[in-house]
Amino acid sequence: MANKRKKIRVAFRKNRHKRRRDNNLTHQVLDEDTGATDHLSGERISGKGDLSRHRTVMAEEAADGSVVLDVDLSQCRRGRVLSSVGLNSMVQAEDGTVFECTVRRILRTLAHNKRNAVVAGDHVLFQPQGDEHQAVIERVEPRHGILSRSSRYREHILVANVDQALIVVSAIDPPLKPGLIDRFLISTEKGEVHGIVCINKADLASQADLQPVIGTYAQLGYDVVLTSATTGAGLDRLCSLLRDRETVFSGQSGVGKSSLLNRIQPGLGLKIGEVSTWTGKGRHTTRRTELLPLDMGGWVVDTPGIRQLELWDVIPEEVEGYYPEFRPFVAHCRFPDCTHAHEEGCGVKRAVSEHLIPHTRYQSFLRIVSGDIDDMPSR
Ligand code: GDP
Ligand code: ZN
Repeated sequence: MANKRKKIRVAFRKNRHKRRRDNNLTHQVLDEDTGATDHLSGERISGKGDLSRHRTVMAEEAADGSVVLDVDLSQCRRGRVLSSVGLNSMVQAEDGTVFECTVRRILRTLAHNKRNAVVAGDHVLFQPQGDEHQAVIERVEPRHGILSRSSRYREHILVANVDQALIVVSAIDPPLKPGLIDRFLISTEKGEVHGIVCINKADLASQADLQPVIGTYAQLGYDVVLTSATTGAGLDRLCSLLRDRETVFSGQSGVGKSSLLNRIQPGLGLKIGEVSTWTGKGRHTTRRTELLPLDMGGWVVDTPGIRQLELWDVIPEEVEGYYPEFRPFVAHCRFPDCTHAHEEGCGVKRAVSEHLIPHTRYQSFLRIVSGDIDDMPSR
């Protein structure tokens, strides 16, 4: 990656706190606002007392525009963020040890949105403090494969650096809604996460009934796997898709996610089930994303936000771009700004009538563009 090195000047809110270099380290680490780690990487402070406070730090700009701070590599360890709540993260070092981490203040200052300074799935460099398995996250590596949702018009990243998302639906009970698959696939495409469609409870339906759905998504290039957590059918294939990869499990409640996970690795589904059984009271502590390791290699990611498909952050004009099968026909629309809904001479509608585009995909397109939330899972 051709990274650009640059100096950045960071302004801090004035008169926030006095510098307390003489504090003991543990205390500084626990106090998120002391700027405890300033001395670790040669940041310089300029400005006049507490009224204007600036630091100049060296950083590289990564290809994705994110800022990667210079840190003293000899002092840092590499790790992965397993979960993150507020400013506290659980980070697993490469040797498996888990550290409870706070976040270096400058990372939060540099983040466009503080909430996303450190998220589950991040690859980080951290500096252990003392011997209590506590540490400070010094740097977050550039992210790929992101799933996020909008929260008050701001992006809230739920998880970063995942390879793929498994959208679990059931053949029947709850009924299979192709529109729900489409909504989810849009969100994963947007985050550049590969989508896999898993149709569970295959024991309750005939393969012939499911064939049109399987065909639609297979033709679009998605992996489609037909499973039954009850009979074990399709689980070998599912395991081969999950092994050594990082997979987000998603899908509405009752489709069999926990049952599938328990078949893959006993106990795992239970752990995941716990997360979703929140009550109004427990909501705060349970709404977090967690990475869970698989014995066969790989990780499974679960988050209530993703389970419930609260990912909706695509504006209507963008939707068409997520229906690649429309593309060849859009050129035939009479109007260049055709919305493919009510217009005469629409190439997309003609293709649907000639069965060149699956009817279910077109219907879900219309519902999504119009903001119809009929496809949304019941909460
Ligand atoms: P989750 O909410 O997605 O985690 O779904 P669960 O794993 O809790 O499963 C919901 C219900 O569906 C339970 O009663 C399961 O026993 C049942 N179930 C799960 N998978 C299958 C399956 O493949 N076939 C059948 N017949 N039932 C299943
Ligand atoms: Zn059109």
